[in-house]
Amino acid sequence: MAFCFISDLHLQDDRPEITKAFVSFIENTATKAERLYVLGDFFEAWIGDDDETDLTLLVKKTLLELSTSTDIYAMHGNRDFLIGSNFAEKAGLILIDDPKKEEMFGNSVLLMHGDLLCTDDVDYQSFRATTRNSSWRKEFLSKPISERKAIAKELRAISKEATGRKKEDIMDVSENEVSRVMEEFSVDLLIHGHTHRPDTHIMNFKGVTSKRIVLGDWDKFGWFIWMDTNSCELKKFPIS
Ligand code: MN
Repeated sequence: MAFCFISDLHLQDDRPEITKAFVSFIENTATKAERLYVLGDFFEAWIGDDDETDLTLLVKKTLLELSTSTDIYAMHGNRDFLIGSNFAEKAGLILIDDPKKEEMFGNSVLLMHGDLLCTDDVDYQSFRATTRNSSWRKEFLSKPISERKAIAKELRAISKEATGRKKEDIMDVSENEVSRVMEEFSVDLLIHGHTHRPDTHIMNFKGVTSKRIVLGDWDKFGWFIWMDTNSCELKKFPIS
């Protein structure tokens, strides 16, 4: 028995090599796991389940096929937080909350996308709170697709500009927030993505050793975590 975790693929029409790597990862690796967790930013952008493209159709087909052998769970990221129940149903996956605590192979594990841990980025946290509000969401999704595309493009430009101005460490997780959530949920392992800083951090607080594994964004390499009874490891493979 094994569980597999990925995040930050940022799937988009402009990067067919990432989509290709995703499909072959699903066919060759994810099918060997009992569960696949996608921890956010699966897509570069998402303006609603009704915006169907060749890419979304391919992803739905690929995941639906996987769902016959593997349970699929997906969490929203900051780019694709508008993924809804229609997509979930057609892809054969279950949407899960962020954060989500799970017991896995005798360990208490907390799963997050990771953006909630970046508490030093006050502007972003306020933007997040606004856009995750159900009335904002409802109003946005009621607009025509073309208008939604234009708004998303504008929001992306604003975010890019803001990101360029921010200091590097503001966009990383806050160590205090990491300790706080791990204590709040009493877990010894935290798995997240978002920061694009793949690594395994061993921490020691209050005499207890704990671990934080950060998934990487798919670019030159694809990243995943493979967890079974004996191990929990961050792995990568080249994308050509
Ligand atoms: Mn993200």
